[in-house]
Amino acid sequence: MKEKKIYLTEQEIPNSWYNMKADLPKQLPPMIMADTLQPPAIEMLERLFAKPLIEQELSTSRYIEIPEEVKKLYSMYRPSPLIRANFLEEKLGLKSKLYFKNEGVSPSGSHKSNSAIPQAYYNKLIGTKRITTETGAGQWGSALSMACKVFDIECVVYMVKVSYNQKPYRKILMETYGATVYPSPSEHTSAGRAILAKFPDTSGSLAMAISEAIEDTLQDEHSRYALGSVLSHVVLHQTIIGQEAKKQFELINEYPDIVVGCIGGGSSLTGMAFPFVQDKLTKGKDVRIVSVEPKACPKFTRGIYAYDFGDASNMTPLIPMYTLGNGFSPSSIHAGGLRYHGGNAELSLLIKEGIVEAHALGQKEVFAAAVLFAQTEGIIPAPESAHAIAQAIVEAQNADAEGKPKTILFNLTGHGHFDMSAYDNYLSGEMQDIVPTDDEINESLKTIPKAPDISKY
Ligand SMILES: *Cc1c(COP(=O)(O)O)cnc(C)c1O
Repeated sequence: MKEKKIYLTEQEIPNSWYNMKADLPKQLPPMIMADTLQPPAIEMLERLFAKPLIEQELSTSRYIEIPEEVKKLYSMYRPSPLIRANFLEEKLGLKSKLYFKNEGVSPSGSHKSNSAIPQAYYNKLIGTKRITTETGAGQWGSALSMACKVFDIECVVYMVKVSYNQKPYRKILMETYGATVYPSPSEHTSAGRAILAKFPDTSGSLAMAISEAIEDTLQDEHSRYALGSVLSHVVLHQTIIGQEAKKQFELINEYPDIVVGCIGGGSSLTGMAFPFVQDKLTKGKDVRIVSVEPKACPKFTRGIYAYDFGDASNMTPLIPMYTLGNGFSPSSIHAGGLRYHGGNAELSLLIKEGIVEAHALGQKEVFAAAVLFAQTEGIIPAPESAHAIAQAIVEAQNADAEGKPKTILFNLTGHGHFDMSAYDNYLSGEMQDIVPTDDEINESLKTIPKAPDISKY
C-alpha cells in the first residue's frame, strides 16, 4: 500500500517564495490611481504597508528568500502534510486518485497564517505598533491576531457583520490571541457610518470592511494595514504550499494532472497552483489548473476583466482583475471567505489567457461534498475548502467516465470547526442556493469606475 500521508521534515521547508510575475506570459497591467491613472506614489503605499512588503508587491524577481525568523514560526505547523484521500476514493469507487494539502493544521486553522506571519514580521522590522485589518469568515483575522501577538503588535479587526453573527467563536478566538474585533460596517469609522446610513440592514462585505480598516490606519501614524488575500505579496507568501506539494509528489514519484482550489481573493489557489503553473509555462508540463468559486459570488465566471477598486468606498488603487463591481453585495452564503467582488491580478490575467480554468458551484452541492468528506476522511472542512473538494470529485468522476483516470491535487485550505451553524443549516435541510440574476450583476458592474480598458492589454 502507498502511504496515506506524505510528510517533509522541517529542514525541507522551502527557502524562498516563488513570484509568478517572473514567468507570466504577458505583462501585467500596473496598479493605478483612479484620479491620476498613474501607479500609486510610494509614500502613499508606505503609509499603508511595511516597506519590505511593498518591495515584494512590486518585485519581479523569480524567488524571494524567506527570513529565518519566518521559517522558524512556519515550523509551528509546516511543512503541512500531503494526504491521499483514499477513503473518499473507495467510497465513490474512483479510479482517479485524490490528494490534498491539509492547510487546516495551522494553529489558526487555515492557510492564512502563511502570509500573516511574514506580514507581522516585516511590520515589526519597521516599528509598526498597531495593525488594522478586515476579515470575512474570520480566518484571516485569527491568523493575523496570532501572528501580531507573537511580535507584540496590537491588532484591530473589522469583521464582516454576517460572520460576526454566524461565528461568535471566531471572534472569541481572535480576542484570545489578544485582538480587538468590531462588526463591520461599524460606527467606528466614517466609511462605516456612511454605509449604515444608506443600508442600515446590510450584512456587510469584505469590500466595506476593507474601507473601514484603511480609514482606521490612516488616523494613526504608528498603524499599518494588512490584507489577507488579493495582493501580490500575499499570493507570494502562499507559494510555500505549492512548493512543498511538488517536493511531496516527487517523493512518491507522482505529478498531478489536475490542481484544484477555491477562490475568495485567490491567495490559496495561487499559492498552491503557481509553482505548477511555472512548470506548465516554462517546462511544458501538462497540468490543468482548475479554480472554483461560489455561484453566489461568480466574479471569474460572470464578472468582467477590468480595473476596479478593492474596496466599497473606493479608497484603494485600481487593480486589474476580474470583478463583479466593488458595489457587489453578495448574499449571506456560508463560505464567508469567498464573498469578495474581485480577485488577484496575476490569477485574473492567467484566467483571461486561458491558462487557469474558472468554474462555479452552488452551496448545497458543496456541502454535500463536505459531509461526504467528513464521513470518509474524518476531517470537517471549512465551507470554502469544500468547494475544492466538490470540484475535485467532479473532475475525478469525469476523468473516470472518459476511461482516463487522473491524479488530482486539491487544497484543503482550512478546517470547519467554527462553521457548525453552517453544517446545521445544511443538515436541517434549510440551506438555499442563492444565485444573482443577470440584472443584479449588470447593476453591480455599473459600480466599476471609468478607467483605461485592459481587456485588450
Ligand atoms: C480566506 C479563505 C479562503 C479564500 O481566500 P483565498 O485568498 O482565495 O484563499 C479559502 N479558504 C479558507 C479556509 C479561507 O480562510
